[in-house]
Amino acid sequence: MMKNLKFPGQQDKILNVITFGCQMNKYDSETIAGLLQDYSLTDKPEEANLILINTCAVRQHAEDKVYSLIGRLSLIKKDNPDLKIGICGCMAEQYGENLLKRFSVLDLVIGPDNIYKLPDLLQEIYKGKRIVSIGHPAESVRSLPTKRVDKIKAYVPIVLGCNNYCSYCVVPWTRGNIRSREPQEILNEIKNLVNSGCQEVTLLGQNVNDYGCDFKDSQISGLKPIDFCKLLIMVNELDGLKRIRFITSHPKNFKSELINTISQLQKVCEYIHLPLQSGSNKILKLMNRGYTVEFYQQLVEDIRQKIPGVSITTDLIVGFPGEEEEDFNQTLKAVEEIRFDSAFTFKFSPRPNTLSATYPDQLTSEVKQNRLERLIAVTSRIAKERNSRLIEKIEEILVEGRNPKDTSFFMGRTRTDKIVFFKASTDSLIGKMVKVKIIGSGTFSLKGELL
Ligand code: SF4
Repeated sequence: MMKNLKFPGQQDKILNVITFGCQMNKYDSETIAGLLQDYSLTDKPEEANLILINTCAVRQHAEDKVYSLIGRLSLIKKDNPDLKIGICGCMAEQYGENLLKRFSVLDLVIGPDNIYKLPDLLQEIYKGKRIVSIGHPAESVRSLPTKRVDKIKAYVPIVLGCNNYCSYCVVPWTRGNIRSREPQEILNEIKNLVNSGCQEVTLLGQNVNDYGCDFKDSQISGLKPIDFCKLLIMVNELDGLKRIRFITSHPKNFKSELINTISQLQKVCEYIHLPLQSGSNKILKLMNRGYTVEFYQQLVEDIRQKIPGVSITTDLIVGFPGEEEEDFNQTLKAVEEIRFDSAFTFKFSPRPNTLSATYPDQLTSEVKQNRLERLIAVTSRIAKERNSRLIEKIEEILVEGRNPKDTSFFMGRTRTDKIVFFKASTDSLIGKMVKVKIIGSGTFSLKGELL
């Protein structure tokens, strides 16, 4: 047998999964580890004989990081020809065969909806084949084993893909059209998590509030019409679970029934991530977002009225094609008026297949950078101001562990998803709900005193 066709023995099945991108990718990496239970995990690529890179294609910058990583890994492979390297995630789906052609060091390219095939595909790779497996087979919406890193909190996907086709976004191409998971599978997964000590779940989807919209014409037998509100109610009833979060919500489908449901369910946390993207109606239309800034502002007002103390965070893109100074100023104005608890801010990055990549009036990187810096100055100031309002307040936090940067402090999160650092003397608090009094605040975190 040729040396580079060696299938690893049980003792040297060592897997390194490198994850870029969003929470869905983090979950997919836990699924990869769950599917390959017979591999032990390492975070050091040089120790592994199988490296899988879970990639993100949302921005050019994320892709560039992967290309430079492949370069570094090719040096490791020179010293260890038995090493197999695969690309998973959205770049795999986006570029498919081209990645194998471009990088001879790669053995496998596998899209997010095909990872359930991994164990079989690895058998082929160890026979010396180089494989591409992409597309969106129906089998992708099924429960797969996971190996969870965090025992206290867990992500649970409820809906895959997206049908919205925002003009800047690759997701409908990389993750396919919307497919909701069956409610019973979701509930079973959460029950199993709770049985192993999980306290908090975050229901995941590109648009969680579209959950169930694809069930209407479903042939799945015995399935009753269900929407996101009904799913939240069912998850809220699970014994032992303490907290429920969800990301991401789309403003255009955020109905008043959902606001009422969240306000009435004790376990559902007062935290909503609601991407605005731009404060200019002209740009929102070009983005194909399906709402106006006035609609969004009314929605935030309704949410804040019915869910007291709610924290609202957002995503904002600057430098979209055709964004004039006046449009950008409207974004600054909207941010000042809405006052987000925090904002994830991005420079527009043209992506393959997307409509906006073909738009005229693409802006220079200098203009984008300048606007990004001005926007961050405003969102950071507001986040700091909003956090300072919590000083002297008593908050319930779920303790996640010690602060890795200063282990004399512990860290946990409020129901509103704000990070709190506090001093304590015992690790036995980890995984527990505790009360703290807020005694300090910054842009990204709070300081508390254990009560
Ligand atoms: S709603 Fe728009 S931005 Fe969000 S995943 Fe779908 S297409 Fe992308």
